[in-house]
Amino acid sequence: MNRSYKGKLFVLSGPSGAGKGTLRKKVFETVEDIRFSISCTTRPPRQGEKDGVDYRFISEEAFLTLLEEDRFLEYAKVHGHYYGTLRDDVERTLSSGIDMVLEIDVQGAFQVREKMPESILVFVSPPSLEELERRLRERGTESGENLRIRLRNARLEMLKSGDYDYVIVNDDAERASNELKSIITGFRSFREERK
Ligand code: 5GP
Repeated sequence: MNRSYKGKLFVLSGPSGAGKGTLRKKVFETVEDIRFSISCTTRPPRQGEKDGVDYRFISEEAFLTLLEEDRFLEYAKVHGHYYGTLRDDVERTLSSGIDMVLEIDVQGAFQVREKMPESILVFVSPPSLEELERRLRERGTESGENLRIRLRNARLEMLKSGDYDYVIVNDDAERASNELKSIITGFRSFREERK
């Protein structure tokens, strides 16, 4: 598909367990012509995660090679593992007029803002750190030291929320996903009017 305009890049960040993925999936059920960028990571897959769907699960060696070749739009080491967004994927999608969503940590989000200042940064916040801890424990994917690291990083990430274009508090997935949908569709109406 080739449109006369470029797609918009929406960057979703927020602590692990805040519910970015859930909100994005809900929005994708009803919003068309939007794509999710599948990140590369060196973290091992969790139960149920699929290579090429949730992430591209690659070795640290492969990741470092891609990094050396300057193939990442942004990347970061999060909770001890590398995560990165492939530049080609994003550029190709946006050039064909399709909007795109990245789900990345705060370090990555500000790298994207630096390189593509027209992108829209959305912070998804849990209602509280106590609630975040409860959700992470309930999810059961992390325990002990990993859980402790994620909670400590969550505190640091929350401090950056004020620098985002939008903050969505995910206290109710239905309401919060509608908010995200409004941000995307609101931008699209604006684009239509300008055409
Ligand atoms: P998880 O291991 O829970 O899937 O992800 C850990 C953190 O890494 C989350 O905050 C997630 O948004 C972030 N993340 C996932 N993909 C990327 C990426 O491509 N780049 C960056 N910078 N962070 C990412």
